[in-house]
Amino acid sequence: MIEVQHLSKEYSIGPVLSDVSFKVEPGEVCGLIGPNGAGKTTLLRILATILHPSGGSVSMCDIDLREDAQEIRRRIGYMPDRFSTYEELRVDSFLEFFASIYEIPEAQVSSVTQDILKLVDLAPLRHSLIENLSLGVRQRLSLARALLHNPEVLLLDEPVSGLDPRARVEMRALLKELGDMGKTVLMSSHVLTDMVDVCDRFLVLEQGRVVFHGTLAELEARVADRRVIRINAAPRNGELADFLRSYRWASSIQNGGEDVRVELGAEAPDLAKISQQLFDAGFALSRFTEEPFDLEEGFLRLTRGVVS
Ligand code: ADP
Repeated sequence: MIEVQHLSKEYSIGPVLSDVSFKVEPGEVCGLIGPNGAGKTTLLRILATILHPSGGSVSMCDIDLREDAQEIRRRIGYMPDRFSTYEELRVDSFLEFFASIYEIPEAQVSSVTQDILKLVDLAPLRHSLIENLSLGVRQRLSLARALLHNPEVLLLDEPVSGLDPRARVEMRALLKELGDMGKTVLMSSHVLTDMVDVCDRFLVLEQGRVVFHGTLAELEARVADRRVIRINAAPRNGELADFLRSYRWASSIQNGGEDVRVELGAEAPDLAKISQQLFDAGFALSRFTEEPFDLEEGFLRLTRGVVS
C-alpha cells in the first residue's frame, strides 16, 4: 500500500534522508518514530507529494509517485504537524470549505461533514470558532480534514505531540479506531511509548536512516540487551555484593542504595536458580526482583546508535 525504495532527500546542508526503504501493508498502522530532526516530517511530506525526493521511488495504492501524483493525492489524507490558521472560521465551515476543495459533490458535503465530526467527536463543537479551540480539539479537526475524502492511506505528522494527557488519551483512542476501520496509516512521533498500543509495526529513523523496522516484540528483543535484578539481604548487603562478584554472569554490581543492583550477563542462569544459589549460601532475601524493562530507554539507546 505504501512502498518506499532507496529514498533520499538532500538539501545544501547535506542528506536529510538516506537510502530509506520500507513497506506498509494494506490495513497496517505503522509508527514512524525517531528523535527530533531524524527526518520524519521530510519523509511524510514527500509521501504527501508536497516535497520532491532527491532519489529513490515511492508508490502508494500501487501508483508510482512520479507517474501520477495527482491520483495519489486523491487517495491519501495528510495531517501536517502544525495546524494552519483559519482562526475566523467555524468548525463546520472549515470542513465544508475543504470538502469543496476535495471535490466532494455539493449534495453530499453536509452529510460527509457531519459523519466526520461524529467520528472525531466534534459534533457538539461544530459551530465554534477555530480561534476558541484547544490544541487537542484543533488536532482532531486537522485529522477530520485529512479524512474528509475517505482516503485509503493516512499520513499523520505528530498527531499526539503537545497534547495534555487527557487529549492524548482521546487522540490515541481515535487513532486506534482508524486502524480498526482498515485504513493504512503511517504516523509519526518522537515518543515511542505514545505509539505502542496504536501501531502494528514501527519504523525507527535516526539521522535520516532506517535503524529498525518491525513489531514491538522484535524491537524489545533488539533493545532489551540488559536485564537487571535488585536483591536485598540487609544487613548483609555488603557480603552479598562480594559473593556475587565471584559469578561471571554478574556483569555489574552496585551496592549504593537500599538494594544490591546486579546486571545480568548473557550467560546468567534463570532467576529461580540464582535465588536458590543465594539461599544455599545462607542469605535471607527480603527482596529479589527483576527491574521492569524500560522500553523508552531502550528506544533512546537504539536511536543514539548504542545498539547495533
Ligand atoms: P523530524 O520531523 O524528524 O523532526 P525533519 O524532517 O523536520 O525531522 O528534519 C530533518 C532534518 O532536515 C533537520 O536537520 C532539519 O533541520 C533539516 N531540514 C528540514 N527542512 C529543511 C529545509 N527546507 N532546508 C534545509 N534543511 C532542512
